[in-house]
Amino acid sequence: MSTTTHAIAAPGPGAPLEQTTIQRRDLRPDDVLIDIAYAGICHSDIHQARGEWGEAIFPMVPGHEIAGTVAAVGSAVTDYRVGDRVGVGCMVDSCGECEYCRADTEQFCVKGNVQTYNGVGFDGENTYGGYSKQVVVRDAFVCGIPDGIGLDVAAPLLCAGITTYSPLRQWGAGPGKKVAVVGLGGLGHMAVKLAAAMGAEVTVLSQSLKKQEDGKRLGATEYYATADETTFDVLRGRFDLILNTVSAQIPVDAYLGLLRVGGAMVNVGAPGEPLSYNAFSLIAGNKALAGSMIGGIAETQEMLNFCAEHGIGSDIETISAADVNTAYERVAASDVRYRFVIDTATIGA
Ligand code: NAP
Ligand code: ZN
Repeated sequence: MSTTTHAIAAPGPGAPLEQTTIQRRDLRPDDVLIDIAYAGICHSDIHQARGEWGEAIFPMVPGHEIAGTVAAVGSAVTDYRVGDRVGVGCMVDSCGECEYCRADTEQFCVKGNVQTYNGVGFDGENTYGGYSKQVVVRDAFVCGIPDGIGLDVAAPLLCAGITTYSPLRQWGAGPGKKVAVVGLGGLGHMAVKLAAAMGAEVTVLSQSLKKQEDGKRLGATEYYATADETTFDVLRGRFDLILNTVSAQIPVDAYLGLLRVGGAMVNVGAPGEPLSYNAFSLIAGNKALAGSMIGGIAETQEMLNFCAEHGIGSDIETISAADVNTAYERVAASDVRYRFVIDTATIGA
């Protein structure tokens, strides 16, 4: 038993996305039915729809930056009511029992978290994401979107927001800390806003100076072009923390040279190709090279509350269903300021 909803799907790896219909399950006692208002386009959607991360499930309905309102709730749901403003990020289920789930880090569930799309639920059914008009999600994987953040500018917080908030918190971004953000795209622009709001001194390292004015407006005090080799001399030994949001390979050693002794470089960018580094780039300076994967549900709610307190949303360009393939091309070409958000009213219209 299920209901039909309109969606946008990639029929196969690299194929243009097209409109289709999919089935959403009938509500279980702990399910929430969400009328999706907006869905952000994350570069991870593009990596997966193009098969850049290896095997994937097609047809694929991408979308893990979901914002909307509650349309119905299952009989056991107590946290949400019809009409509530809610969001869903990159996961829709986990075992709830392992040490990582119990520590509010469901993304590391030992049984594997169930991805919002390109995943398989514990019921054996494929998951379909947010480029659609409705979605059914277990209540424990739904977050409340505080009043004061528009649903359109909130949608990207569910992935780009939490993926940058979590490592900035873990690695101590705050007053007296010099933080560099590499790549000013969807994740990067959120990292700049969040790190600045946390009180850190923020520098953007972008391929060129084209977006310099934006970077400063978003909260950076300095902005450098990585295509200019002198940048790597000028900034040598400067940063406590470097957050790499680049969706492609970068010369890791060059960036490690920009860390202070004891500094850390954290990768959230997830290119399909390996990154490599020289061991001495870490040894000479007790430096750390780390990774970070989204964030747990409790931390996602904390991030949303932080954004509401600080008046932070994503800088978006709202598009219609017909523009999704063009938007993919533009993101792949680093031509996004700074997140495309699909108005789901245009899906199936
Ligand atoms: P995005 O909007 O495309 O931003 C990436 C930015 O990286 C671009 O805007 C560009 O910034 C820079 N860049 C792109 N190609 C480059 C190249 N060849 N060399 C140097 N810089 C380049 O992508 P996004 O949505 O922010 O996602 C970024 C990455 O994070 C993706 O790989 C995505 O899959 C990954 N991701 C990881 C997680 C996680 O949990 N770890 C979660 C979400 C996304 P400039 O124009 O400023 O140089
Ligand atoms: Zn994402």
